[in-house]
Amino acid sequence: MTLATLDLAADVKTILGDLGVKPERYTGGTLAVRSPVTGAEIGRLPEDTAESAAKAIDAAHQAFLEWRLVPAPKRGELIRLLGEELRAAKTALGRLVSIEVGKITSEGLGEVQEMIDICDFAVGLSRQLYGLTIATERADHRMMETWHPLGAIGIISAFNFPVAVWSWNAALAIVCGNSTVWKPSEKTPLTALATQAIFEKALTRYIAEGNSAPKNLSTLLIGGRDVGEVLVDHEKVPLVSATGSTAMGRTVGPRLAQRFARSLLELGGNNAAIVAPTADLDLTLRGVAFSAMGTAGQRCTTLRRLFVHDSVYDTLVPRLAKAYQSVTVGSPLEAGNLVGPLIDKAAFDKMKASLEAAKSAGGKVTGGERIEQDGAPDAYYVRPAIVEMPEQTGPVKEETFAPILYVMKYSDFDEVLRLHNDVPQGLSSSIFTNDMREAEIFVSDRGSDCGIANVNIGPSGAEIGGAFGGEKETGGGRESGSDAWRAYMRRQTNTMNYGRTLPLAQGVKFDVI
Ligand code: NAD
Repeated sequence: MTLATLDLAADVKTILGDLGVKPERYTGGTLAVRSPVTGAEIGRLPEDTAESAAKAIDAAHQAFLEWRLVPAPKRGELIRLLGEELRAAKTALGRLVSIEVGKITSEGLGEVQEMIDICDFAVGLSRQLYGLTIATERADHRMMETWHPLGAIGIISAFNFPVAVWSWNAALAIVCGNSTVWKPSEKTPLTALATQAIFEKALTRYIAEGNSAPKNLSTLLIGGRDVGEVLVDHEKVPLVSATGSTAMGRTVGPRLAQRFARSLLELGGNNAAIVAPTADLDLTLRGVAFSAMGTAGQRCTTLRRLFVHDSVYDTLVPRLAKAYQSVTVGSPLEAGNLVGPLIDKAAFDKMKASLEAAKSAGGKVTGGERIEQDGAPDAYYVRPAIVEMPEQTGPVKEETFAPILYVMKYSDFDEVLRLHNDVPQGLSSSIFTNDMREAEIFVSDRGSDCGIANVNIGPSGAEIGGAFGGEKETGGGRESGSDAWRAYMRRQTNTMNYGRTLPLAQGVKFDVI
């Protein structure tokens, strides 16, 4: 089937219809959504206003007041059901992700699998929201810490992980006793509608099992930046977890700080890898190619800078260039294509501008040209680009959200570590080496300064078990696994006196009347 004959709007209608989403939620509105696969319009959603968003947040706060009273393991049961509903809807939601974002089929399905995995994680977590018992200096006392939910949690997400990011936040926030209010990217509201419908199915089953849960436990706001701002400024939202560009974080972070609300910022990445003299070059080639070209370079963890030791440069780089030339670019819905489209024309224009700037800085560009598709003049497919740079200058120090890999030569390990860390953004990183000392130094305190540091595996992709992210520019976000749950709760220290006296500080006397 050629792109010209694809009717993706009809596909969207079937998928959303099967999930119980009414057509008026995605037709006849003001927010137009285009599929990057064909460039054609696939939905038009009614948008929230500042007033409707504020009202929805108030309702979510009311939901929180009820939900916090439900014991945590019972809250976990809702997330267990959500995991089941996501398993049942995996194929449909995965396809919708591919249609709305342009991810190849396996990546669309992989994104839904991450949602399922975080649900499993959160179910176990619902029985492990541990606090410490702390040794106290006072006789007949016990001191302990307890963790309490925060309130209605704001979630702002980026287009490139349209549903997984919500689940990383929501699964944890909900077992922790919070409600959630989600403002997805204005480029990907259809997958959000589908996800909300899946959540509501789980909620219906939860209530049918004899449990009670408030309405508005999970709320969806549709709109752009202005609607996100309502979430950021609303006094009833104690934490906003915002995923997106560094530019967005720079606005959102200070606004939240101004009203002393918490922020969890997961922002951009200008991720690098080092290829050392002892690297297994076959493994390196696969690791580099996947991390740099996967999702058409539209991952926060995409590999963007590659430092290759001069002893292996002439062996590795021509092989890499060959892999770049041979990779199949085309419809993400067709098996065999490894690289799908860019999200839109603006992304293509930025890629072109970065390649021009790299050329001006002395870079040698291979690839990067647009690959036009029959019957889809508004879709932007590109051949991933390799740019051999004389040094780390110009656009190399910025995150361009497109498949551009800047390659540079190095000869000294300490110097390459310095260059590796010499960009403001730093999310993920890796080293390919079989030298144990280099590997250990890379993950040590004097090694990579990123939130993720890998050895013999590329920087892209993450498992939900580890806390994700930790962009150095922001001091680190970290959603998902490990002890990320603490961000969604407040810690309380309790001192219990089971004695008959009240010990006061030494020398203090109170005459009580
Ligand atoms: P973006 O910053 O343009 O938008 C992200 C979200 O923020 C959208 O929902 C948008 O409406 C909202 N937004 C923008 N300005 C806002 C404001 N002032 N107040 C409130 N909300 C606002 O990002 P994008 O183009 O959708 O996504 C790509 C970027 O996201 C890349 O930089 C990528 O690295 C980053 N990203 C990071 C992670 C991570 O976990 N670190 C994951 C995915 C994407």
